[in-house]
Amino acid sequence: MMSHDLQWYYPEKISEALKLIKKDGIILHAGGTRILKTEARHLKGLVDISRLKLNYIRKEGKNIIIGSGSTFTDVINYCRKTNSLSGLCMALSEAASTPLRNRMTIGGSLKDFPVWSSLYSPLIALNAQVELVGVKEAYSVEDYVRKNIIKTKHIISQIVIKDEKDVICHVRRFNIVRFEYPIFNLAVALKVKNNIVVDARVVITGVTGRFHRFKSSEKALIGNALTDDIITKSSEYFTPKFHSDYKYSPEYREHVAKVYYNDIVNELKKEMK
Ligand SMILES: Cc1cc2nc3c(=O)[nH]c(=O)nc-3n(C[C@H](O)[C@H](O)[C@H](O)COP(=O)(O)OP(=O)(O)OC[C@H]3O[C@@H](n4cnc5c(N)ncnc54)[C@H](O)[C@@H]3O)c2cc1C
Repeated sequence: MMSHDLQWYYPEKISEALKLIKKDGIILHAGGTRILKTEARHLKGLVDISRLKLNYIRKEGKNIIIGSGSTFTDVINYCRKTNSLSGLCMALSEAASTPLRNRMTIGGSLKDFPVWSSLYSPLIALNAQVELVGVKEAYSVEDYVRKNIIKTKHIISQIVIKDEKDVICHVRRFNIVRFEYPIFNLAVALKVKNNIVVDARVVITGVTGRFHRFKSSEKALIGNALTDDIITKSSEYFTPKFHSDYKYSPEYREHVAKVYYNDIVNELKKEMK
């Protein structure tokens, strides 16, 4: 339940919004899909972001810039129209439902980072940067969480992703029923030159510690063609650790994740040809 005295604010400048959220009990409201589900009794005010002009997606040189007010649907439509960021597009189009994807924003989803996030694993795999107002300007999405910047008071203004045609990225989420919070989201991005992997990023969310990058798995891929031996070697280092709940044991989750990891790398191998 929200308080009946909840005050709404509609600033037109980011600086005004920033001043407001520095006050106790006042937070930003983007899609509102998370705020509605949380115990919001302590909230005194909500700052609507719709007049802050944060809903845009554009290409600048090699970068795709996504304003934090863009919804999942906006991003999916842009990616389909421009044939870019297929891994991110795949991940977002599987999230929640159409009405929810029409509301959920990139900024709200980054700040919230639910355990079922569809956004984080592809963004970290693609080495996306997040630009902020209120603290130091920019971080990699990975550092944004690792350095606990996510917990500070700030406004996410945009994310920046390099659109590299030699980077291929696939994602996979684990859920039994299509409309169910995913247990984990796995993303693998490879930079490929002449059939050799020159860079690799393997990221999973939904694990203990929120997310994990498998640097040894990445190392096993880098400098090599994707042969069966290399894929097997890389898989040996892919050992995600999960919490237990009433649904599945950590061992079962790890087993499924390993199967998915193998599937993804084999799909990427086919795409390299
Ligand atoms: C039934 C259901 C299923 C779902 N399934 C999935 C799924 O499969 N995958 C997935 O990724 N998500 C899923 N979600 C969405 C997810 O749980 C969050 O609700 C959503 O990502 C929040 O985005 P929002 O724009 O609605 O944020 P809001 O609810 O508006 O805000 C969330 C938080 O972010 C802060 N915030 C908002 N904008 C900014 C900004 N620009 N800068 C800094 N802070 C900001 C707010 O103050 C608040 O603390 C699901 C949600 C529901 C209800």
